Order: sequence, then C-alpha cells, then structure tokens
Amino acid sequence: MKVLISACLMGENVRYDGGHNRIYHDRLKELDLVFCCPEVDGGLPTPRIPSEIYHDRVMNQEEKDNSKYFEKGASIALSLVKEYDIKVAIMKAKSPSCGNEMIYDGTFTKTLKKGEGITASLLRKEGVKVFNEYQLEEAFACIFDK
Ligand code: SF4
Repeated sequence: MKVLISACLMGENVRYDGGHNRIYHDRLKELDLVFCCPEVDGGLPTPRIPSEIYHDRVMNQEEKDNSKYFEKGASIALSLVKEYDIKVAIMKAKSPSCGNEMIYDGTFTKTLKKGEGITASLLRKEGVKVFNEYQLEEAFACIFDK
C-alpha cells in the first residue's frame, strides 16, 4: 500500500527556509512512500517567505495572499492520492499546508491554534487518514492492521 508523506520529513530541502525535517523510523523503510511538498508543487520557490492561515486565507509574512499556490499544491496532492489509491498520509505537523491538528494562528508570533493546513484538510475530506510525525505509531497501526 502506498503512503503519502511530506517530502521535508524525508530529508528533502523544501522547507520555507531551505531546510528539512528529516525523521527516522525503521518501519518507514517498509512503506511504499510517495513524496509531496504542496507548497513547492503549488509553485512557490524555496526558500520562501513563510506563510500562515489567517481568516481562511494563506498570507505570507509580507501580507501577500498566497492562497492560490496552497490550493494548487493541495489539488496536486489529491491527484497523487487518487492516482495511487492512497488511504493514509504522514504529514508535517503545524504547517499551513500539511498540519493535521494544529497550525500557527496567522500572527507570525509562533502561536498555535487548532486547525488544519490546506492540503491536510482537503485530503481528510476526501477520506484520507492524515497523521503527523508525532503520530507514527498510530499511522503504522492504521497501515499494517489493514
Ligand atoms: Fe514540508 Fe509540507 Fe511545508 Fe512542503 S509544504 S515543506 S512538505 S510541511
């Protein structure tokens, strides 16, 4: 079974600051992973000015509305999910694209609030079970218990 994963979690330098968030877990090697980075796929450069969701728009720190890039990236992630019949995604926590439970509140003050990133939300609504890197055991249970 293929699993969608945020590319930055696998060491790709696609974060807004040009870095990554590589995670390590033996069981990741057992998965057939499909990488995606919705922000880059949606057309944003790396590095890029960070964005946060504010009143349902994705604004960067210079107050530019980047929503269309985030929406395009989400739709590309959804295409991958449909193409490969993906049921589970492991996505980077707190991201305005990939975050599945908490996101920054749009004030660029490192303040978190309950909410989802644009891609995580779309995938969940389409029936994908979305986990973050702190929920790997839950993700593995969901993947391997099927
Ligand atoms: Fe990582 Fe997702 Fe941000 Fe890309 S959009 S850098 S995959 S958290």
